[in-house]
Amino acid sequence: MTKIAVYPGTFDPITNGHLDLMKRGLKIFDQIIVAVAENPQKQTLFSLQQRIDMVNEVTKDMKTIQVMTLDKLVVDFSRDHSATVILRGLRAISDFEYEVQLASINRSMEPSIESVFMSPAEEYSFLSSSIVKDIARHNGDTSKYVHPSVSASLREKYLK
Ligand code: ADP
Repeated sequence: MTKIAVYPGTFDPITNGHLDLMKRGLKIFDQIIVAVAENPQKQTLFSLQQRIDMVNEVTKDMKTIQVMTLDKLVVDFSRDHSATVILRGLRAISDFEYEVQLASINRSMEPSIESVFMSPAEEYSFLSSSIVKDIARHNGDTSKYVHPSVSASLREKYLK
């Protein structure tokens, strides 16, 4: 049986930390669906389409990664795509409380879907999309933290 995991998030933009997590996830799961959230409550720098395009570009050589829009509850999305796992990243302790809350709510809505947490390589454990945007906004070099295509998109955004 194919084990499918959904990796939901905002990906505004996708970082090397997200990518590290996907690679780790693929050691356990046959397929990962990256579910990019519309997230109207969060003011995103990039539009939904831009965020999806960036994930597609960064993962284009990874045949077992699929990229889709998340426009409903993660548990409903997972069920619709025959996924049995929700993959999330745990960086520092600060992620813990929110992630456990989310996992508990998801479990109460759909007990058959498990949340699985993975931690990234040390070098990515303090990396977030927000920090990358801050660096780019102040004209810093983001090349250590994101794919070159994402660095280019960030430069273009902040040049305007
Ligand atoms: P969200 O708005 O759902 O937090 P993000 O795109 O910020 O969306 O993150 C999606 C998931 O990826 C979350 O589980 C988050 O903890 C994880 N994540 C983000 N950055 C990293 C990183 N550097 N290393 C590992 N996991 C990460």
